[in-house]
Amino acid sequence: MNPSGGPGVPPASCDLVITNAYLITMDLRRSVYRRGAVAIDGRDIVMVGPEAAVHAQYRGRRSIDARGGPVHPGFVDAHYHVPNQLTRGVFPDTAAMSDYYLCYARWYERMDADDEHASALSAGLEMLRNGVTCFMEAGTVFEADAVAQAVEAVGIRASLSEPFLWDTGEHDVMSHMTRARPDTDRCLALLGRELRRNRDPHALVRGHVCLFGSGSASDGLTKAATDLAESAGVAFNQHQNTGVAGVAAQEARLGGRHPLVHLAELGVLRPHCAYTHMNVIREDEAVVVRQSGMSVIWCPANSMNWGFGRSGRRRPQPELLRAGVNMALGSDTPKWGFDTPALTAYLLARDGGDGDPLQAEDFLEMATLGGARVLRMEDRIGSLEPGKRADIVIRTTEVPESQPGHYPIQNLMLASRGKSVDTVIVDGRIVVRGGHSTLVDEGVVYATARERAARLARDIDLRTESRWPVL
Ligand SMILES: [Zn+2]
Repeated sequence: MNPSGGPGVPPASCDLVITNAYLITMDLRRSVYRRGAVAIDGRDIVMVGPEAAVHAQYRGRRSIDARGGPVHPGFVDAHYHVPNQLTRGVFPDTAAMSDYYLCYARWYERMDADDEHASALSAGLEMLRNGVTCFMEAGTVFEADAVAQAVEAVGIRASLSEPFLWDTGEHDVMSHMTRARPDTDRCLALLGRELRRNRDPHALVRGHVCLFGSGSASDGLTKAATDLAESAGVAFNQHQNTGVAGVAAQEARLGGRHPLVHLAELGVLRPHCAYTHMNVIREDEAVVVRQSGMSVIWCPANSMNWGFGRSGRRRPQPELLRAGVNMALGSDTPKWGFDTPALTAYLLARDGGDGDPLQAEDFLEMATLGGARVLRMEDRIGSLEPGKRADIVIRTTEVPESQPGHYPIQNLMLASRGKSVDTVIVDGRIVVRGGHSTLVDEGVVYATARERAARLARDIDLRTESRWPVL
């Protein structure tokens, strides 16, 4: 595969050309081509540009006509707990947060490798069908090989780390799980285990370093994990500053210090760090976050669900974004679908009429380049540019939610969302076509998920109670 040398030279052949695309590149200029094309060879994008220019240089052995639909880089879901996937709808919806998390703890205790495999298949399939081509697991997978196998089978990109690394977690209901006792030795023995996946530069499933976070690790463990991630060139991730009550508890343990100020003084706020939630940020904390070059992963739906953002001041995420902090989006849990984070964040940013709304482009940026930067993979994914991996979403305009088509970026982020996803390409491979998986039997994935979820619910004596009589 070599591009044409100029006029009179026939186009070079490549594996695939996507034509007739409303092409949103997310390149440095954020170029959008009204009638664009992408040439792909193997795993890589080899050319992006106006359709005529691409046609002059490349002829695909296969081509896909996008029929004028938006084509954009695949989304990164930067915070998702894979073992939660099969809990959708089974925990009591009116439970207090501590009872809800107790349900999670009991669920995790009973999961085996096949349960985690079924969870990952179901989650990966659902993500792909919503335009998510890569996700960062939030440090809750016990059976990483089973999850990796499912991830590869469904064809999505992922990054995994070790489960529940914490050593001071007496305050957390989940720390009573026998599988994940708060224990420094256990954490140090596991820390970095998943980084072995990065030895293969083409691995679809990679590893990063993750602590559970929110004050559940000693300073020593936090420093060891942050240092390890930096030396390995991967992300360090943890939950942090999630809600008012949790922050107050951590602050009390720190003798009144604000947690992020403490972490800055410890020297662990660095550019490879991505902290999840960050709903409660005081001014002194915002300063150290901005100065550090770290990233923030915003999970807007869980923030609303538990009232995490009610801190008596404006939500910090829009301010941090405007101040240049890299930001990504996460779904966190399966109660809402994978196409809701951008919509929820859009509405949250506008809530209260503070005159500082964000726009659809901001969320597209968070969902693509923002997530890629969190994963330290911005040289490989996050935009459609030559030399990057072909992780691409092709949308249809032939759904009611895509009409009348004035403003395609706003439309796909807020209105048509998962419904307009037609074709998804990951690492150069077509993994969704016509809205369905090309790699797995979706019916089998669903049946397995239902069977495994029913068994787990039975085991921990959970019954989904409808409020209304089911006759
Ligand atoms: Zn989480």
